[in-house]
Amino acid sequence: MARMLEAPTYPVADEVVLDPKRTAVVVVDMQNDFVKPTGKLYVPAAQDAVGPIARLLEKARRAGVLIIYTQDLHGEEDPEYHIWGEHVKAGTWGAEIVEELAPQPGDEIVPKPRYDAFYASRMEDVLRVHREVDTLVITGTVTNICVLHTAGSAALRWYRVIVPKDGVAALSEFDQEAALHQIDFLYKGVITTVDAIRFE
Ligand code: ZN
Repeated sequence: MARMLEAPTYPVADEVVLDPKRTAVVVVDMQNDFVKPTGKLYVPAAQDAVGPIARLLEKARRAGVLIIYTQDLHGEEDPEYHIWGEHVKAGTWGAEIVEELAPQPGDEIVPKPRYDAFYASRMEDVLRVHREVDTLVITGTVTNICVLHTAGSAALRWYRVIVPKDGVAALSEFDQEAALHQIDFLYKGVITTVDAIRFE
């Protein structure tokens, strides 16, 4: 039987003004296998995050903000398949980023083999090229898995982390709230909403 716990609380900023030159928006793993009902590891809440992420990307593109997509990607065999089953296999429809959030010319796409987008990926190289960036707005799925690991990894490198709660999705409310609490409590990230973010 589930044990009742009080949900952790964290502040939600109602206005976050970011310098477009010093900010990158990171869209974590918004791929068909996670976002679409016929995907292999469907996260229903990810559907609800598509609209807010699209609104954020529109604002970011207008302001000339760097946009980085991460793409979870596995080969024929992968130890993660023993945990989750086969998912986001290279070359399949499931591995593609959803068409509603399709990357545009100039965006960066960072394939990654594990939850943490900084591990064994091009992320550090991309951010080194854009060395003026010191703030990452992190969106996508799954909040307590790849978003949390990526937020933590960014914070350990002293990036300022901003997470709009309507732009991230988890499998349960518990997972969502616990991850947001951790990002606030441990990584000193700012939890906010997409509409509270302004680039200027
Ligand atoms: Zn994976």
